[in-house]
Amino acid sequence: MNYDIIVVGAGASGFSAAISAARCGARVLVLEKLKKAGTKLYATGNGNANVSNTHMDAASCFDSCEKDASDFLGELFGSKRADEQVRAFLATLGVSLVDRNGYLYPASRQASTVVWSLLDEARRLSVEIKTGCSVTSVRREDEGDRPIYKVETEAGDIYCGTHLILACGGAATPKLGGSKDGYLLARALGHSICEPSPALCPLIVKDKEYFSLLKGVRARAKATAYDRDGNLLRCEEGEVQFTDSGLSGIVIFNMSYPVPNRISLDLLHGISVMPDMVSLREQFSGRTLIALLNGYMNDKLSEFIVRNSGYERSTGVSEVEDSELAGLFETARHLTFDLSKADSFDHAQVTAGGVLLSEVDASTMESRINPGLYITGELLDVHGICGGYNLTLAFLSGIAAGCAAGGGI
Ligand SMILES: Cc1cc2nc3c(=O)[nH]c(=O)nc-3n(C[C@H](O)[C@H](O)[C@H](O)COP(=O)(O)OP(=O)(O)OC[C@H]3O[C@@H](n4cnc5c(N)ncnc54)[C@H](O)[C@@H]3O)c2cc1C
Repeated sequence: MNYDIIVVGAGASGFSAAISAARCGARVLVLEKLKKAGTKLYATGNGNANVSNTHMDAASCFDSCEKDASDFLGELFGSKRADEQVRAFLATLGVSLVDRNGYLYPASRQASTVVWSLLDEARRLSVEIKTGCSVTSVRREDEGDRPIYKVETEAGDIYCGTHLILACGGAATPKLGGSKDGYLLARALGHSICEPSPALCPLIVKDKEYFSLLKGVRARAKATAYDRDGNLLRCEEGEVQFTDSGLSGIVIFNMSYPVPNRISLDLLHGISVMPDMVSLREQFSGRTLIALLNGYMNDKLSEFIVRNSGYERSTGVSEVEDSELAGLFETARHLTFDLSKADSFDHAQVTAGGVLLSEVDASTMESRINPGLYITGELLDVHGICGGYNLTLAFLSGIAAGCAAGGGI
């Protein structure tokens, strides 16, 4: 079966590539291994789909293991704002966006709106979408000076295309389609892969006594991440969530790559006037240390700080010196956790690593190794922080690939 363009993966980048190519008149086939197209998209932004962000630009908040991603993204985004390009593309599908402090969502606040609009447009353009169709191998067989890509599925079907777009995403969240297939397919076509690792995920703390006390606690804090030499990696304020084994929440997700050595939480960040220890002791001499600290933070956090500082649950304010009391408040300002690793791909929103950026033309997403091959979205060695950065990357790289491939037929 012959097509102009075969797209592997029906996620954000695969859909935008297929639609852009079909709008150029190309005959497009999309192969998706899951039963449902757009499975991950439905889950984005807690079901609201945070599709872009007005604060993003090529220079901000993107990581890549090979080199600074900003040149690559500068070329991909071009002279127009990235969020405006996403807005314009989605508008062509009938999806209008609302702005919540720079975070852009569909006006319906439903991720399904985005998926259904992509599906409707793909159908209108006669894009063929085969779901439940896992691609197991790809190879290039040139006919004269024209490359032909032969794509084989698990069922043994073979499809041929003059252009191939690998939009298989990364390894994050396998239950939503994440897999390492894309890396294997790209490698089979001669590409190099920067080792994939989980990103935008919880961080696991090294054993800390009493940590289990904190499971389920959510606290506002200013979090600061440091590398093993004590250098500052990132500082951000927001809600930190405590799990049975580590730290989670958007603030922590944004610090999860590269994995910091240590994170320090200032739990008193939002408190404008700090108490005087002498008057605290006088006023609350009949209370426990835990009860006293609970006036400033969640009770489990106050218990954790008191117990980790070597006091009993029942230790009273009158039993400690002013300096010891001050020490507890100091700990609350710098509650430090040593980290052992990032959580697994099961709990990661994106993948760090992927196909090296130097092997792909940033304006078209065309492989520098194989003409007619395009690589898009999370499969590439670039990812951004939470807030619409990754969907923007997926949409814009998909559009660039679809337009270039479709324009070349
Ligand atoms: C829970 C969650 C919430 C998120 N929320 C946001 C958010 O609000 N905003 C944001 O910007 N980003 C968000 N992200 C990240 C964002 O969803 C991804 O970065 C983006 O979807 C990547 O798009 P993609 O097209 O490259 O890959 P994907 O969307 O992962 O699509 C790849 C597709 O390829 C298919 N595939 C893989 N291998 C094969 C194969 N061998 N054969 C056929 N098909 C294959 C997969 O099944 C999948 O459907 C979130 C991620 C998760 C997990």
